[in-house]
Amino acid sequence: MKILKNTILLLLIASVFSCKKDTQTNGKLNVVTTTTMITDLVKNIGGEHINVQGLMGSGVDPHLYKASEGDVTKLVNADIIFFNGLHLEGKLVEVFEKMKNKTPIALGESLDKNTLIGSDYFASNYDPHVWFNIDYFMKFVKKVTVVLSEKNPENAEYYKTNETKYIEKLIALQSKIKEIIETLPKDKRILVTAHDAFNYFGKTYGFEVLGLQGLSTATEAGVKDVQKLSAFIIEKDIKAIFVESSVPKRTIEALQAAVRSKGHEVTIGGTLYSDALGTSGTKEGTYIGMFEYNVNTIVNALK
Ligand code: ZN
Repeated sequence: MKILKNTILLLLIASVFSCKKDTQTNGKLNVVTTTTMITDLVKNIGGEHINVQGLMGSGVDPHLYKASEGDVTKLVNADIIFFNGLHLEGKLVEVFEKMKNKTPIALGESLDKNTLIGSDYFASNYDPHVWFNIDYFMKFVKKVTVVLSEKNPENAEYYKTNETKYIEKLIALQSKIKEIIETLPKDKRILVTAHDAFNYFGKTYGFEVLGLQGLSTATEAGVKDVQKLSAFIIEKDIKAIFVESSVPKRTIEALQAAVRSKGHEVTIGGTLYSDALGTSGTKEGTYIGMFEYNVNTIVNALK
């Protein structure tokens, strides 16, 4: 069944390519993005001069996301494709392989590999959750500006102005985040979440990070993981653990139940936005709003 589905997908890609003509709509670049973080970034830089189509919405898990027929059409009609890469979008790799003539841009691949956190789990050998380091996200911003300007030199100045404004906001975000985290004593900086999305966050801000599931949600947490982590929570007297918006709640609830069964109490400190932003149009629907919300939620619950 899976093979059949893949075959249909590849045939579809071939057929859409063969009837494809020009790509720009109303003189605007058609840009296709994957995760909500990248969609928000690209909109900030491209503004009125591009059409952005984000494949993944709020609450969508990029590790498990598969391309629909509609997505393939969008990708084939794109002038530029931006994605995270480093194997975050694990089920889209095959589709991007077939889009080679579109040269999809994996923003994560443009980072200095020596500075990334290694991981055996991903085919990339790196932890792909790089957007939780704001410095890396700023590198994404710069890369996007360069690519948009190369494709559409007439508006290069406009993209550059947007880049400057957005980078300023990200620098302001960095100081704000540091200030909020300063209010949390160092020994309370232990972050337990549904899956290991926060390693870069932890490295930057001095948190010990433990995810119930591995780096990818494609692996289920087992009973052993729940027992081990619940013992750790009790030993370290951790006040709160966190649900993630793109991962089912039940894993964290099982962990809470395991802690309770041993006569201890741990609260669910809130829902964090890990691999997807909040609803579009809300504060948490932006990268900056998401970061602030997450940090306030974490610090308030662990204090
Ligand atoms: Zn993840």
